[in-house]
Amino acid sequence: MKDLKLIGPFSQLLTMNGLLEKGPLDDSALEIIENGGVLIRNGIIQKVGKYDSLKNDIKLPKANLIHIDEKTVGLPGFIDPHTHICFAGSRANDYAKRISGKTYLEIAREGGGIWQTVQQTRQADPDQLYANTLNRAEKMLELGITTAEVKSGYGLNMEDELKMLKTIDRVHKNAQIDLVSTCLAAHMVPKDFNGNSRQYLDFILTELLPQVIQNGLSRRVDIFIEKEAFGEVDALYFLQKSKVLGFDLTIHGDQFTPMGSQVAIETGALSVDHLESSTDKEILALAKSDVISTVLPGASLGLGMPFAPARKLLNAGNALAIGSDWNPGSAPMGNLLLQASLLSTSEKLTNAETFAGITFRAAKALNFHDRGKLATGMLADIIAFPCTDYREILYHQGQLRPSIIVKKGNKID
Ligand SMILES: [Zn+2]
Repeated sequence: MKDLKLIGPFSQLLTMNGLLEKGPLDDSALEIIENGGVLIRNGIIQKVGKYDSLKNDIKLPKANLIHIDEKTVGLPGFIDPHTHICFAGSRANDYAKRISGKTYLEIAREGGGIWQTVQQTRQADPDQLYANTLNRAEKMLELGITTAEVKSGYGLNMEDELKMLKTIDRVHKNAQIDLVSTCLAAHMVPKDFNGNSRQYLDFILTELLPQVIQNGLSRRVDIFIEKEAFGEVDALYFLQKSKVLGFDLTIHGDQFTPMGSQVAIETGALSVDHLESSTDKEILALAKSDVISTVLPGASLGLGMPFAPARKLLNAGNALAIGSDWNPGSAPMGNLLLQASLLSTSEKLTNAETFAGITFRAAKALNFHDRGKLATGMLADIIAFPCTDYREILYHQGQLRPSIIVKKGNKID
């Protein structure tokens, strides 16, 4: 009895249970429990149901109740499947050039872009990088994100890639949000690397990744497939070898050029992320595969470019996840709910599709099967917004903030 907790009542509890893993979702399919409650044991959900019946059935002492006095709508904690929050410095200079008309690729060719952040992140001492990353992770948690993926990719050499991955691990251990790290050393060929792109990928495969494994720093590998980064042939080679080493795969693909999603399908990647330039061909091929389509509206907002074709992806039968892509260059905002709600107005997504994209479908993109829904056996990651109708959440376009955040059964004050 000591380790049991009951939280509630929630005016509405949006469990995200019983929804399809792929394809369109109608709001009528949402399971909504009025006056709901969640029974928790050791951070895991024991039961979800009506608050009063859970309370009467078990007769918990007062000390085991987390009673909610205000009217709220509860949901599973949000999951951000794609971020780059471990970085130093600012790219306000790039942003100024971009809003006055220069393109992302033009800025990169002039020596701005990712390379500028690489130099600033290399210079940062580990404690400074830790403080920056912790601060951003805490902001995400305040916005209701209880799990987030974070990539390396601003080190691009042995020492600084390991520094980034160790920093992400340190924040994961000390913050209340769960962070999942991904090695994105294949973000670009560093300008100071003595060799071609294949030689750089070989350095990652034979020198860096064994260190990542040995130090238990990441189980995921990512690569940026794009004209200014890595080609499809090199990416295929790199990902197949990474897979043999035991890494889960994810890909930055189809952002400016439709290249990347085919590689994701061939290598059995968990997800391909971006997809702004995907055509019907890529959309249909992805729909036939198990690859999650992760779209990143924050990058479209930061770059002033159209959103990825989220509606088309869903209609074709894809599993759509939504990430913030929080990074210092193309997506400096870092507000997933705001971005998801703007995406839903432009792309005509239902509440069910939008929330699925930042809960259980995002969990799947990270290979998690223990979160993203409020159901027996799932982690007790619960957030609640101060309203009585779940539709208020997207309606306020990111301005309504969660008033209650519970991580693994612990209410965060
Ligand atoms: Zn990214």
